[in-house]
Amino acid sequence: MSRQTHLSRVTRRETLGCLTAAAAAAALGIRTVGAQGMKAAMGDADRLTDLGMELNAHQRSAGVAFLERHATVDTHSHPGRFFLKQLAYETPTTRALGAAFEERAVADLHAGNVSAALFSAVADMRLLDMTAQGLRASRIFAPGEAYADYRRQLTELKALAANPALTKGLSPADVEAAHRRHKTAAVFAVEGGDFIEERLDRIHEAFSEGVRAVTLVHYHVKQIGDIQTEAPVHNGLTALGKSIVTEMNDIGIIIDLAHATYALTKDVLDISTKPVLISHTNLATPTLNHPRLISSEHAKLVAGTGGVIGSWPSGFGQTTFADYIDSIQRLIDAVGIDHVAIGTDMDANFKPVLRSYRDWSLIPAALLARGLKDQEVAKVLGGNFLRVFKAMRTA
Ligand SMILES: [Zn+2]
Ligand SMILES: [Zn+2]
Repeated sequence: MSRQTHLSRVTRRETLGCLTAAAAAAALGIRTVGAQGMKAAMGDADRLTDLGMELNAHQRSAGVAFLERHATVDTHSHPGRFFLKQLAYETPTTRALGAAFEERAVADLHAGNVSAALFSAVADMRLLDMTAQGLRASRIFAPGEAYADYRRQLTELKALAANPALTKGLSPADVEAAHRRHKTAAVFAVEGGDFIEERLDRIHEAFSEGVRAVTLVHYHVKQIGDIQTEAPVHNGLTALGKSIVTEMNDIGIIIDLAHATYALTKDVLDISTKPVLISHTNLATPTLNHPRLISSEHAKLVAGTGGVIGSWPSGFGQTTFADYIDSIQRLIDAVGIDHVAIGTDMDANFKPVLRSYRDWSLIPAALLARGLKDQEVAKVLGGNFLRVFKAMRTA
C-alpha cells in the first residue's frame, strides 16, 4: 500500500506508531498488519477495553484509589508530541507525524491523576528517518543545529508547563506537591545530549531552565557514545562523554541511559557518582531480542548502583496490556522491587499497549491484582524514581 493511501485511511496522529511499527516489524521480520488493522490496534487514545486479563470493578477502583494515596511518575513521555510545535523545518517524518495535540494530552494526564512525567524534548528530531531498520538519524548535525532545535522545544515546554493542570517539576518536593494538589508536575527532560555539543556550560544552562534529566544518546551517532541501534563506533563513552557525565553529576541532572549500549552504560557507571535511570526499556527474553531491549546483566548493572529502569509498554513482544504487566514483573524478578519504574514513551511509542494516561490507574490495579503489596506498587509507580531524583541533590 502506498503511503498516500495509508495516510488517507488512518488519521495523521496515528502515523508515528504505524510507521515506526511497520519499520520495526520489517526489521524484526514480522509481517505488518494493514492500515485498518493498525487503526484498530492503535485506536485514537481510546480507553483500553480488552486488557488481556481480568480486572473486576473492585480491582479497577483499587487502582484509582491507589493514585490518591501515592505520588506516581512516568519516567519517559512526549505528551501530545509537543516537540512538533513551532517547527522551523519539515522532514518526511515530521510530515507523517502531523500536528501536536498537547491540550488533549494534558487533559489525559489530569484525568489519569499522573503526579509527574518526564516531558522529553527530542534532541535529534530533525534527523530522524523511518527506515526498514526502524528509526535512524539520516545524517550528522551541523554545528549549532541541534542546539537551535533544543531551544525551540524548550520554549514550547515552558509554554506547555504554564497550563493550569500542570506545575513545574524541579524537585522531588514539587512532585509530592503536585500529587497533593491533583496536578501533574512537568519534569523537563531531553532525549539525546546532542544540544550540548562541546559546551559543558549548556548543562548548567539546561539546569537553570528547569531540565532535570538528559538521555545521553538517542539515534544520532554522536560524540558522547554508542547507541543500541547502530554498530559501535566508540566502544563505550568518549572523552567528551566523560566530561558530560561528571558535569551532570555535579549539577544534579539525572543521567538517562535509554538507547545506550551495554559498553556505554558500563563506562558511565564506572565514573558516575550518582545512580542512573534507564527511562524506557524492557528485558530481552529467550524468544524476543531487539536492540532496544536489555539483558538481565545490563539491568543488574544499573540496579547494582542504585539505579532505576522504566518498564516500557512499547509493543515489543507485547500485544496486550497484560503482556506489559508481565514485562514489569520480569524486570522486578531480575533486579528487585527497588529498581523498577514505569516509562511509557506516551505519544511517540512504537506500538503502545497503553494508549492514554486515562488508563494510568490500570497499572497499579493490575499489579495489586497480581499480588504485589501496596508499598511495593508505590515503589514501582513513583517511589523508586523519586529516590533517584532525591539523590541528585548537590550538597
Ligand atoms: Zn526513546
Ligand atoms: Zn522517547
